[in-house]
Amino acid sequence: MIAIVLAIPLLAFALDHRTFLLRIAALTLEVPELGEPTEEGIEAFWFDDYFTVFRIDHDTYAIGETRYHQANFNYLVLGTSRAVLFDSGPGVRDIVPVVRSLTTLPVTTACSHLHYDHVGQYGAFESAAMVDLPFLRERAANGQLVLEDGEHLGYIEEMPARTLVIDEWWAPGSEIDLGGRRIVVHHTPGHTTESIVLEDPDRGQFFGGDTFYPGELFVFLPNSSLGDYERSTKAILARMDEESTIYGAHRLDPVGLPVLKRPDLLDLEEAFVEVRAGESDGNEEETDFYPLRFEVNDRLSMLMDFAWGRRWE
Ligand SMILES: [Zn+2]
Repeated sequence: MIAIVLAIPLLAFALDHRTFLLRIAALTLEVPELGEPTEEGIEAFWFDDYFTVFRIDHDTYAIGETRYHQANFNYLVLGTSRAVLFDSGPGVRDIVPVVRSLTTLPVTTACSHLHYDHVGQYGAFESAAMVDLPFLRERAANGQLVLEDGEHLGYIEEMPARTLVIDEWWAPGSEIDLGGRRIVVHHTPGHTTESIVLEDPDRGQFFGGDTFYPGELFVFLPNSSLGDYERSTKAILARMDEESTIYGAHRLDPVGLPVLKRPDLLDLEEAFVEVRAGESDGNEEETDFYPLRFEVNDRLSMLMDFAWGRRWE
């Protein structure tokens, strides 16, 4: 009996070392206090003392939470009949007033993926949309999706996993009509299984969530996959030209909008080939044991599992 009890944690470690290591890291993490407001330049303005609003064009806004230690960026995409709020931050402060100061349209909250710093206020407006994936749909009886700790990760900052109420399901590849403006939904697994990227094909705008942003890309999480990430990168690259811009959910630079361009994704595409081939030339370095970092270019790196734990399927 004792042997069985002892075997359970050992088995858990053997089955899912990523979850185990993340739980250990969460135990030691001290969540930083809110930072001081920064001077963000003439294209940005502060709404109250927390949200930083960047006007991308006359009906596209980035709503930054730059004082929060992860510096999340949420995007408000306006048509003539409806608006989409793509990601809703960690919920540290109420995002409703800033969104309402920018539009009177009915707003649909959507999320790039299910991590706690992207779904904090999912459902805070008229409707809420989710990518239509079988493994999510079958769990969402009556439109209620109870998030699991492993896909929400809120335990890292003592934020309990949420139950999301879903009003509409967006099929991968579908176009959402916002009135005079369409956005395309791309399923882009890699960072997580359910990750999506939104595209406005008429303006060359992509909203990359945690899949594409300048900085350290997390590919070591329990539901991360390098193989999926590579395929998703190729799929988005095929939709981009030199004018295209990806707006990411976090940033590398201390101020300004987090953007990537096509050459960045070409570098990322090449990085997957190098990592898979093991031709990394010592590029992989440990970040305090785990995860390992692979430098993609001076604006991008990947944080990955040990070589034996990587998923390419
Ligand atoms: Zn994430």
